[in-house]
Amino acid sequence: YTRRADRVVRSVCPFCGVGCAVDLHVRDGRLDRVEGAPGPANAGRLCVKGRFGMDYVHHPQRLTTPLIRRPDAPKDPALLTRGPGGRPDPHALRAQFRPASWDEALDVAAAGLARVRDAARSLGLRGRAVPVAGFGSAKGSNEEAYLFQKLIRSAFGTHNVDHCTRLCHASSVAALMEGIGSGAVSNPVRDCAHADLIVVMGANPVQNHPVAATWIKNAVRRGARLVLIDPRRTELSRHAWRTLTFTPGSDVALLNAMLHVIVTEGLVNEAFVAARVHAGDVQALRAHLQAFAPEAMAPLCGIDAATIREVARAYATSPAAMIFWGMGVAQHSHGTDNVRALIALALLTGHIGRPGTGLHPLRGQNNVQGASDAGLIPMVLPDYRRVADPAARAAAEAAWGLPNGFLPDEPGLTVVEILDAAYDGRIRAMLIQGENPAMSDPDAHHARAALARLEHLVVADIFLTETAALADVVLPATAWPEKTGSVTNTDRTVQLGRPALAPPGDARADAWILEQLARRLGLDWDYGIDPHGGGGAPDNGIGRVFDEMRSLMPALAGLSWERLLRVGAITHPVPTADDPGHPIVFTDRFPTPDGRARLVPACLGAPAEPPDAHYPFVLITGRQLEHWHTGAMTRRSAVLDALEPTPHVSLHPATLARLGLAPGAPVRLRSRRGEVSVATRVDEAVPPDVAFLPFAYVEAAANVLTIAALDPVAKIAEVKYCAVAIEPV
Ligand code: SF4
Repeated sequence: YTRRADRVVRSVCPFCGVGCAVDLHVRDGRLDRVEGAPGPANAGRLCVKGRFGMDYVHHPQRLTTPLIRRPDAPKDPALLTRGPGGRPDPHALRAQFRPASWDEALDVAAAGLARVRDAARSLGLRGRAVPVAGFGSAKGSNEEAYLFQKLIRSAFGTHNVDHCTRLCHASSVAALMEGIGSGAVSNPVRDCAHADLIVVMGANPVQNHPVAATWIKNAVRRGARLVLIDPRRTELSRHAWRTLTFTPGSDVALLNAMLHVIVTEGLVNEAFVAARVHAGDVQALRAHLQAFAPEAMAPLCGIDAATIREVARAYATSPAAMIFWGMGVAQHSHGTDNVRALIALALLTGHIGRPGTGLHPLRGQNNVQGASDAGLIPMVLPDYRRVADPAARAAAEAAWGLPNGFLPDEPGLTVVEILDAAYDGRIRAMLIQGENPAMSDPDAHHARAALARLEHLVVADIFLTETAALADVVLPATAWPEKTGSVTNTDRTVQLGRPALAPPGDARADAWILEQLARRLGLDWDYGIDPHGGGGAPDNGIGRVFDEMRSLMPALAGLSWERLLRVGAITHPVPTADDPGHPIVFTDRFPTPDGRARLVPACLGAPAEPPDAHYPFVLITGRQLEHWHTGAMTRRSAVLDALEPTPHVSLHPATLARLGLAPGAPVRLRSRRGEVSVATRVDEAVPPDVAFLPFAYVEAAANVLTIAALDPVAKIAEVKYCAVAIEPV
């Protein structure tokens, strides 16, 4: 490729949590091509999304002017399912709104939020009872996440603020915080180069974290043994030493059986446990595991006892063993217990705190780690300081200029709880930036009805998404290559994104939008943020936001904005200005009060909705290589859309034969909550009696079918398991 670019700008891929560094080649004001750059996570490698998927920034459907709902256009979720090919008609969606100036749109947006807030205040409502909530986004930068949670907390006096981590790794974070005092990964992906054995469970990195998958394959080629544990025989199984295609939903049965082998065969690393684990926990866990012999668990998990014993022994006796996991573990009504069992595996064997070991929940979105670090979560402030902690609240109040005692001490509502509250009128107004709950939340018909019932909904986004189509005010925001900001990848590496393009039309920087709303809601914010996404000098705009944020975050205390501009990437924690960062953590203690980890027994949990005679198949939802989450960006990318233009449900050949269907035949998938029509695709990786449907396609929205059953600890929804019927059409 020889065409010369006018400019080349170093940035970060906006899709998955691997956080590949990219060089954006700009020609005539447009993105000409993207090349891999030598970043810490990718060393120049990219997948098809990073390489070819960023042309969505120039799509003609980009929002270029603020929009206000027309008084004669009632909010109608049915518009999302009415249109050519079952997709919404973009003209019909747009016709619900009239263009407005920024001043008018911001005034209307803020006035509606203030009206609901002030009415609640007059009734003395506080905390989670305040009928206002916000969804920020892991697609945004650290600074945007920080400002978003600060705005909701400061302007409304509530912690009703959350983001897509609730639907992603909330159960992982809950279990990790409980067990080892930190929700972040212990070792970076590339550290698998030092592992002798690698476990990948409930994750499909070839599709969802493709560059991470290349590092795992490289490790296997070097000699590491790969154990793949997944109901589906995913592509990585071609590289695996053992593939355990276990029964969906039986994670704890399988993992506790492995733990049983370790404690009964003398494979516990006694020295590590004595030094690093809370006294008494091992004994309690041993007692708990008595009932989980592999022979007893084999019928539940579908893996024979000999294989369970073999894999458990191999993991425990390898010099260095590392565990990766994904949504297949986390997105269950017993997700926290699933992760507790994985943590116990690492702690009992001492496979943590050294190169080639550790626990790595593969983060989904490019900045879900950073958004969580920044406090975009209803139960914690920046740096995971609990809202119940008076010192944490006092520090935030002092930094944000709030009166002493202003912040409530009870956590706010979570994502699914907020939409339930919107449905029944307890939440009446919302601000949503960059999230698309009309597509991403379980039981989508319910979620869409809840959004439509809101008295006032303000959405800032780059497209008129399915969620924005239900808004009162829509604010046109910037795409990632159009603004300055930092993001934190799955490895805890903070990286700098630099603007390469001007925002289209009258689109404005997300951080500027938040600052303007804050001022209209009575806050005296004055960061000097550039409305067009530029800037980033240490003494103004985004740089000032970053430095205020790190003043509340000991993990970033040594990383000034000026230093980040200089180094471009560094892995936190960075406690001092001369600290080089720490790719591997927990080397000598855990960040718990006494420095020791906790072993928490994992209990067997059944899926909330097992198959039955009326709904005999299990539905698993997920992503695919070519499309990202709800498809808002990648379905507007020319190359990616050409590769996968339409939805398919993947079925085993035996399932197709049983239904009397040829591959490609259309079917209706029906659950207790809704139905979708979609073409079939034959896929031997999917077990018989299981259907796999990606959730990126509005015309066959997988979440119309899923169930909003929640994990009781983490409040994550069980979007990886529900019962469906499959009928020919
Ligand atoms: Fe982007 Fe993830 Fe692909 Fe890297 S692996 S190019 S971060 S989508």
